[in-house]
Amino acid sequence: MTLGNTTQLIDGFDRTISYLRLSVTDRCDFRCQYCMAETMQFLPRAEVLSIEELLRTARLFTELGVKKIRVTGGEPLIRRGVDTLFQGIGELPGIETLALTTNASHLAEFAPVLRQAGVNSVNISLDSLYPDRFHTITRIGKLDTVLRGIDAAVQAGFDNIRLNAVILEGLNRDEVLPLTQFALEKKIGIAFIEEMPLGQVNLGSKSLSYVSSDELIEELSTHFALEPVSSGQTAGPSRNFSIPGTQTQVGFISPHSNNFCGSCNRLRISAEGRLLMCLGNEESIDLRQLMRDGESDQGIKTAIIDSLSLKPERHVFDRPNEPQIMRFMNATGG
Ligand code: SAM
Ligand code: SF4
Repeated sequence: MTLGNTTQLIDGFDRTISYLRLSVTDRCDFRCQYCMAETMQFLPRAEVLSIEELLRTARLFTELGVKKIRVTGGEPLIRRGVDTLFQGIGELPGIETLALTTNASHLAEFAPVLRQAGVNSVNISLDSLYPDRFHTITRIGKLDTVLRGIDAAVQAGFDNIRLNAVILEGLNRDEVLPLTQFALEKKIGIAFIEEMPLGQVNLGSKSLSYVSSDELIEELSTHFALEPVSSGQTAGPSRNFSIPGTQTQVGFISPHSNNFCGSCNRLRISAEGRLLMCLGNEESIDLRQLMRDGESDQGIKTAIIDSLSLKPERHVFDRPNEPQIMRFMNATGG
């Protein structure tokens, strides 16, 4: 759809797409239990979009009205050339928010470079404050390195820093309050994410189960006067609350118990250049093929606009009788 000089991405359900999540690698230096198997087969490098292709993709989407790009993965900060990519995206006219989701294993070294490239929002995954448990969850990660990364991000002065914690019964259910207190101490935000059914999660003989956001809201409400932040102020799937007298917002992302598809404003690009319409569905088009076949910018933009007719009305995570998508999160970029 064209409005004056601006082409806008509007899908079949009248939702305007202004947000792109760009996965820059499927590889990671962690193997979080709920995200990856212990041994993983990663994509051959030639199948992953090059830095030039990623930058071209970002440019085309901003020309189509996208204002926010989140770089994710896998672990984006282990991708070679990612600093050049951030620099390039930061210079695109039309970008209002340049965001990163990271496990923070390399954030201590990257934070100043990212800030300088124009990154304004950083989400950092942190599921435990116990070193042993952190190691168990991530299978590889070292908590002290991640904590150094968090401090470096705070020091670099990003506009927005938020911790992301996936809470599982039998794993870290007891850390909801300590993690929130940690966020308060650091004067940053925190979001609790319901585990999504993208793979089987087992820990030894224990099988872990997801905890609903409603339970967590109830628990935290006994400690803090949580004040709902109106959804107009917080586009996206997170239900947010402020804690009066602090700078911390607490968010709850609930694919199981809260359907947020009606306000969906986002598309995803997987590491191998598939433009995915929805995290919970398989509909996609192959942007890499178009780029490598020498398609023009205009041709690719037309393909993107046409693909929006594939965007489904909603995901099916909460419908047990529907086929579920068993795709590891690192492949689609969370
Ligand atoms: N490696 C980076 C990180 O961990 O922040 C970015 C990619 S990771 C796939 C993005 C987010 O997805 C993380 O916050 C992670 O906790 C979350 N995630 C991964 N698997 C998940 C699952 N099965 N359910 C819910 N969240 C998941
Ligand atoms: Fe890696 Fe992030 Fe997945 Fe953990 S959640 S394995 S850090 S991609």
